[in-house]
Amino acid sequence: MERVFNFNPGPATLPYEVLKQVQDELLDYAGTGMSVMEISHRSKDFEAVIAEAESLMKELIGGADQYRVLFLGGGASTQFAGVPLNLVTPGREADYIVTGSFAEKAYEEADKLIKANLAFTTKPEKHNRIPKKEEIQLSADPVYVHLCSNNTICGTQWQSFPDFNGIPLVVDMSSDMLARPFDISKFSVVYAGAQKNLGPSGVTIVIVRNDVLEQVNKQIPTMLRYDIHAKNDSMYNTPPCFSIYIVNLILRWLKQNGGLPAMEKRNQEKSALVYGAIDASAGFYRGHAVKEDRSLMNVTYRLPSEELEKSFVAEAKKQGLIGLGGHRSVGGIRASIYNAMTLAGCQTLAQFMQEFQRTNG
Ligand SMILES: *Cc1c(COP(=O)(O)O)cnc(C)c1O
Repeated sequence: MERVFNFNPGPATLPYEVLKQVQDELLDYAGTGMSVMEISHRSKDFEAVIAEAESLMKELIGGADQYRVLFLGGGASTQFAGVPLNLVTPGREADYIVTGSFAEKAYEEADKLIKANLAFTTKPEKHNRIPKKEEIQLSADPVYVHLCSNNTICGTQWQSFPDFNGIPLVVDMSSDMLARPFDISKFSVVYAGAQKNLGPSGVTIVIVRNDVLEQVNKQIPTMLRYDIHAKNDSMYNTPPCFSIYIVNLILRWLKQNGGLPAMEKRNQEKSALVYGAIDASAGFYRGHAVKEDRSLMNVTYRLPSEELEKSFVAEAKKQGLIGLGGHRSVGGIRASIYNAMTLAGCQTLAQFMQEFQRTNG
């Protein structure tokens, strides 16, 4: 059976080599005579998996000695509550920059639980850009400034992270974690659901700076407490073992393929192919994001009519290009081209776009 080019936004495509290895090891993991799904999370075999995943994650990011990497359940959405509850003590506040629907959800959740300030929103502009530092209105003394590095639905991405005189940033990196190098020292918390760029669904990576772990609010539900999870090496309760195992294989794959600098270069080449097809189309394809804030991961665009968009998605599917329909809230086309999407996939999509325009333009 042939594999398709999978442009799904998440759960999303995974590296072929990794899936092959999972298949090879499925019935007998490391000579145990059991699959990873069947062994105890407290066994030496599984402890080795989670320890390797934490250490590879830190090695790939670089400069992360002062951080712990947690592997938790509940999705990135649980961290919308986890972050403010852990970090914001009574009397303090946190600031939120809203550049898309997930960033808005993070803000709304925090606003129920603590005093959260909306520092800027691009909602009136349909989230087609990232604000300039001068536009962002911070409160007097926020515990952190929350932002979403890549806006999965609208297709914009922070090209660099702002510096607010040392106020720690908290970032939702769900859809571009490990897609490019970044300076972790700006962040007190980095979190990401794995199912876009890091692995299957079921596990959420939460990276927390050590000094933050020491100060977390202890009057919150145990399962949300970062210090408890850190102290127990993410095994306070049963973690999502199989997902963590696959994340670990992806981290090995990233390292073997040159780490984050190589990923960034590859992601730039890939996205340039698809954006190139948009820009060369004389307005047949209209990109949603302003050019300087375009995402390397989610390429969003429209066609002249919804009919044409429907037939674009259907025709692409017939040719083995899957998952190109935009998010239900915005419509249009979205090509999600995470780390595991190949250059060949993006070439094929760019060619298909030219051909579709030639026959329908
Ligand atoms: C998908 C996504 C989420 C939601 O993740 P869940 O793991 O489903 O909770 C949050 N933030 C961003 C940026 C996303 O892309």
